Parts: sequence; C-alpha cells; structure tokens
Amino acid sequence: MIELTDVTKVYPGDVHALAGVTLNIGAGELVAVVGPSGSGKSTMLHMLGTLDRPTSGRVAVDGHDVSRLSDRQLSALRASRIGFVFQQFHLAAGVPALDDVADGLLYAGVPMKERKRRAEAALTRVGLGHRLDHEPHELSGGEKQRVAIARAVVGEPALLLADEPTGNLDSASGRGVMAVLRELHAAGTTVMVITHDLEVAAGLDRQVLMRDGRVVGDSLIAPHEAGVAEW
Ligand code: ADP
Repeated sequence: MIELTDVTKVYPGDVHALAGVTLNIGAGELVAVVGPSGSGKSTMLHMLGTLDRPTSGRVAVDGHDVSRLSDRQLSALRASRIGFVFQQFHLAAGVPALDDVADGLLYAGVPMKERKRRAEAALTRVGLGHRLDHEPHELSGGEKQRVAIARAVVGEPALLLADEPTGNLDSASGRGVMAVLRELHAAGTTVMVITHDLEVAAGLDRQVLMRDGRVVGDSLIAPHEAGVAEW
C-alpha cells in the first residue's frame, strides 16, 4: 500500500524533518507512528498522503510512484484512495453533519441524492445515525471527530491517515474514536495513526517509532534486525 524508500524532507532554513526514512506498510495494516514532538511524524504523513513531495527518495502509494505523477494526477489519487483525519476536526461551521459528510463526495461526481444516502450510511457506521442534522456547535468533541472520520471514509478510501485523532479529546471519547478506527480497519481499510499517546499506540497492531526524522523502532522488525536499540 505504501512504500517509502530513503525519503528525506528538508524545509527552508535547513530543517531536516525527515533524514532518510524507509518504511513499508501493507494493505490492511493498522499502524501507529509514535515519537516526540518534532520527530517528523506529520511530515511523514504529508509524504504518505501525497500532500507534499519529498526532497529526495521514493514515495509509492497504492503502486503509484508519486514523483511520476503530475499535481492533477496526485489530487485524483488523493481524492479517490486516501482519507484524512486531523486533530482539529476541520468541520464546516453551520453545516449539518449529513451535508458536511456528503460534501466529501462532491469531487467524485456522485449525484446529490446518492451523496446523502452514502453520507447517512457513513455517519451510521461511526455511531452518529441519530445526529444527522446536528451542526458542529451542537456536537461533543468525540462526535465531531466521528463526523470527520465519516467524511474521510464516505468515498471508501483504501488508506486512512489520522494525525493525532484523539489529541483534542478526553480519554473516554478518544477510546470511542479509536474503536471506530479499529472497526474500519476490520472492514478492510488500511489505517495509519500518528500519536504521541503510548496507550493509543499500544492498542494498534504495529508501532513505528520515530526520532529526529528517522524510524528508530518498528514492532514488526526485531531491534537487532533493524540495527536499533531495544525500545
Ligand atoms: P511531529 O509531527 O513529529 O511533531 P513534524 O513533522 O511536524 O514533527 O516536524 C518535524 C520538524 O520539521 C520540526 O523541527 C518542525 O519544526 C519542522 N517543520 C515542520 N513543518 C515545517 C515547515 N513547513 N517549514 C519548516 N519547518 C517545518
């Protein structure tokens, strides 16, 4: 599903956010990326999500070498194959949940009636079938994040990327959101969660540890094989 090979990202000011990352994530995995603030987690998610291009190295998503695609092709890949969830929900103020989720299908050229039907199914899937008409200010933090997840998956992406999805939530709501992500994974979606919460990470199948722009641990690979210290 995702292959990063020797990926670096240097931001202006000579900031080496990624210093040579090689990572393969297979279809159907449920992966946590953990590491301290500034270790390059979000930058890596931007590479995987084709939101930005690497300075060097190769990024392949779903069999497509990102460097060979035009910006338009990248947008199309993103719109059809990748869903995003962020810490700050990013819901549209004053827009009912059903319409916000249905808008996630605008670019797929789906007729409005069908968009709403699928949006209702997605909201029901995340446990919000009874909140279709609620606007963001009428929803709790956990409910807002569920709406954001419904919007991210309404187009049935193969890959769901979540950047600190529980970062703004109390622990009970956070657990609910993680349960929804695990259900989506069980139904076949590849899910990658960035988190600095070790408890959240421990609840997922695989943990990748980042530090200083590098992968320094991977629960799938024994430390001695990866050439890193025990973690
Ligand atoms: P994390 O998600 O682990 O907190 P980031 O990927 O956000 O880490 O950041 C990695 C490093 O890159 C940090 O030192 C950060 O300050 C820097 N950085 C991130 N985005 C930019 C940017 N757009 N321009 C310059 N530096 C950036």
